[in-house]
Amino acid sequence: MQRTEALARISDEPGHTTRLFASPAMRRANKLVGTWMSQAGMSTREDAIGNLRGRYDAAPGSPCGDKLFLLGSHLDTVRNAGRFDGALGVLLAIGCVEALHRSKLRLPFALEVVGFADEEGVRYQTAYLGSKALAGGFDAKDLQRRDGNGLTMADAIRRFGGNPGALRQARLSPRNLLGYFEAHIEQGPVLEKRGVPVGVVSAIAGQSRVSLEFRGTAGHAGTVPMGSRQDALAGAAEFVLAAERCGVIATVGVLEIKGAASNVIPGCVHLTLDARDANDSRRRLAVSRLRREAQAIAKRRGLRVQWTAVQATPAVACDNALSRRLSECVARQGIKVVNLPSGAGHDAAVMASITPVAMLFLRCAGGISHHPAESVQTRDVKLALDVMVDFLHAVGRALDEPQPGADAPHPFPLPIGWGEGGRRPGEGLSHAANAGPERARALPGQRHSAPARRHS
Ligand SMILES: [Zn+2]
Repeated sequence: MQRTEALARISDEPGHTTRLFASPAMRRANKLVGTWMSQAGMSTREDAIGNLRGRYDAAPGSPCGDKLFLLGSHLDTVRNAGRFDGALGVLLAIGCVEALHRSKLRLPFALEVVGFADEEGVRYQTAYLGSKALAGGFDAKDLQRRDGNGLTMADAIRRFGGNPGALRQARLSPRNLLGYFEAHIEQGPVLEKRGVPVGVVSAIAGQSRVSLEFRGTAGHAGTVPMGSRQDALAGAAEFVLAAERCGVIATVGVLEIKGAASNVIPGCVHLTLDARDANDSRRRLAVSRLRREAQAIAKRRGLRVQWTAVQATPAVACDNALSRRLSECVARQGIKVVNLPSGAGHDAAVMASITPVAMLFLRCAGGISHHPAESVQTRDVKLALDVMVDFLHAVGRALDEPQPGADAPHPFPLPIGWGEGGRRPGEGLSHAANAGPERARALPGQRHSAPARRHS
């Protein structure tokens, strides 16, 4: 917990915690966290994009010594962040290795702790740069993006000490990977409500983003009779309520009255819809019903509605076998096992394109995140650490278990189509303009415009 405090003081903006991709604060953060990795017995390095990587070798002579299990989360933050989002997952991972090192234990496989250089996407408006580089989903075109000061991503990486020309080589080969594990604060209120310190993540929700416009007729607020109006805001209001009842997690986060005035009937309203669910078909069905609902509202009220699908990204499932082992470890601590989907995006969603993933959520006070008020309990963190160490041993034991089929060396087999030649790593993920099969424009200010308990 002291480490989270020390890390929170490392910032690009004085007075609060802001660490942007490839920034001076990230340079200092990598240095400090690298020291902790070394103290925990790891050899450390930075890769071409600036991910901090600490390696703890397998037990000498282990037949699976070339296999690698990854633990990680991100070290960058949003602006004016809390101290636990991302950082806690990296520090817990280091804590695991520290515990092994202290007991002079090595696992039958190598461990690597990754502090990802970018998950939040604040500086270049495109997220998961760190995990995309590792998973091979980095889009070289992104190197030409410019930050607020006009500096290209390629130059920022160079200044940081990375090598934009070598990003391809940063990719990990799925063949040697056993899996990826990420601990993260929940960023929501479910675990707190259920009274449990940790929960096992079942999937990372898929997401649809839609931009809508209701158009009616502006008019004098005093002279047009109520029965003769085409009030665009009244139509939009009906749509907001329809979204609330649509059966999946849905939010209208933007509602803009064009030319708003207290004495003018709203003639045009722009709004956004963000719908998420761990089940893609349920999400798609809910969104198509809402589309029909918007048309019905418009028809009833003499309005026109324009519906623009901005982005659609599929859900990412956590691996069943890994999650089952993780659940067993939670149960061994005497904790009720709660499975829950993640409504927010995480590095695990990108890593799932090359290796099986599992995630553990820690309860956070009030579900608040992306805000300095982020808070977790020390005893929850200790418990999470115990669960994680137990989990790593369980992964080790799984290697000894007979596998179905004589030559199925992977204890957590990748679904067909994953890894080599499968879904492009990072494809279809929920941030910014370049994410996903439905390439579309990102709405300005979409990601960081809301108050506390914001989700990625
Ligand atoms: Zn995070």
